[in-house]
Amino acid sequence: MKTVTMRSGSVLPALGQGTWNMGEDPARRQAEIGALQLGMDLGMGLIDTAEMYGEGGAEQVVGAAIAGRREQAFIVSKVYPHNADKRGVRAACERSLQRLNTDRIDLYLLHWRGAVPLSETFDALGALKKEGKILDFGVSNFDLGDMLEAEALPNGRAIAANQVLFNLVKRGIEWDLLPWSRKQGMPVMAYSPLESAGPQRQVLLAHPALLAVAQRHGCTPGQIALAWLLRQDGVVAIPKASDPAHVRANRAALDVLLSAFDLEDLDRAFPPPAKRQALAMR
Ligand code: NAP
Repeated sequence: MKTVTMRSGSVLPALGQGTWNMGEDPARRQAEIGALQLGMDLGMGLIDTAEMYGEGGAEQVVGAAIAGRREQAFIVSKVYPHNADKRGVRAACERSLQRLNTDRIDLYLLHWRGAVPLSETFDALGALKKEGKILDFGVSNFDLGDMLEAEALPNGRAIAANQVLFNLVKRGIEWDLLPWSRKQGMPVMAYSPLESAGPQRQVLLAHPALLAVAQRHGCTPGQIALAWLLRQDGVVAIPKASDPAHVRANRAALDVLLSAFDLEDLDRAFPPPAKRQALAMR
């Protein structure tokens, strides 16, 4: 499995599994647990979740999936901004640990920036890290300006990763945030790598340019969209899949090697940013 290294020296797999929309329907619970376990069997032990997903339901699904095999998992979870004050972070983390049925979260992120001063949140996260309840902390949905502000704070240099929307269609971060993150040695976790669960994904996956590249490689458009992310330095992709065929396909995307010719075709169809863009969140 390709890996990416955080500034703390901790290593995480470059391909993981998302859990948004999991833990919402008891009828789907076993299938979701099975999909995550299949992904782990295939080496995708990085599982991304959040207290927000299913209001704790997704964390419970993850807890069930990693039971008896915690060592094979790299758990990422996130705290709501409205829980990001000194006491709130601690309480939210304790609840997440309980639902995940573990004693530690590998990477704990502030889900997005809210009203609580960042210095207070990072102090609280730093304390949890000292206690070993979280092994690293980071942020999500932070644009370059937020990152520069955050980095200047006392605990700011401890920020291990930033999770943002990044895929073939949403390439804005390539202008400034991605190059800056690479310079800092800070991984970018690409969320919604397949344009998420709604109709936007159908539009992406039916794009003629993507279909043509997929045909050349004898694979699916989704695999090309993931391979495009996975070939980039310092980028982690976390597709969510509850269909076992999707889980297998996503793992196989790691083995797809795109040529310069493929990349030119993709750049023509999905152009990189020509100027600074506000950070996309959907
Ligand atoms: P995504 O991973 O881009 O897409 C998920 C959708 O794609 C699901 O409907 C899934 O179907 C389908 N799919 C999976 N693999 C496929 C394949 N190989 N071919 C075709 N379709 C495939 O969307 P996402 O859930 O928005 O993003 C991934 C993860 O990022 C989330 O689950 C979450 O953990 C994280 N996230 C974070 C934030 C944040 O603010 N930090 C925001 C959004 C997402 P099935 O489920 O039926 O297999």
